[in-house]
Amino acid sequence: MRIGYGWDSHEFKRGVPLRIGGVALRHKQGLAGHSDGDVLLHALTDALLGAIAAGDIGTHFPPSDPQWKGADSVTFVNEAMRLVREAGYAVANVDSTLILAEPKIGPHAATIQARVAELLAVNASAVGVKAKTPEGMGTEKAAIAHVAVLLVEKPGRKLLAHHAAEDVPQPEIDKVVEQVVKTVPAPAKSKSGGKSRLDF
Ligand code: MG
Repeated sequence: MRIGYGWDSHEFKRGVPLRIGGVALRHKQGLAGHSDGDVLLHALTDALLGAIAAGDIGTHFPPSDPQWKGADSVTFVNEAMRLVREAGYAVANVDSTLILAEPKIGPHAATIQARVAELLAVNASAVGVKAKTPEGMGTEKAAIAHVAVLLVEKPGRKLLAHHAAEDVPQPEIDKVVEQVVKTVPAPAKSKSGGKSRLDF
């Protein structure tokens, strides 16, 4: 199994629709960003990519690329999930915390939970959606999201080469290490009493 963590923040801006967790919320302002500014889906994408050590949202969807302007962030999650499946994993569960002054997330939490669960192909009970207000943090003009994700190996999986190391039993690793140690030549003795140059 593998753990992933993602974090994101976006500033509120008038005249922009608000989307959080793939759900459109009615509010006087939305989150500014190159894409649709969905802070929760961005943190989720980073958590998924991080869990398989596959870079971050910026490396896969550079903000400099015009094709992601105004993009639906569901695209980012879908691509991260494709990579997760390709690496031989499925999502076990995900937990998230939103930090924003308004709107209140409570009334929308179940809808966000169901939408995120759908994107990750898990039951709603495997998705935690929590929200806090930024007491004393001075971040009232922004929305912040933290996401942790746990991946489990798919049954009968075939891991990609760069994820396969964890599957090698420890005695095998010990054998390889032993071989390497044996083949490394002993340090050449210098004229000054057998000390190598690195021994000062
Ligand atoms: Mg973002």
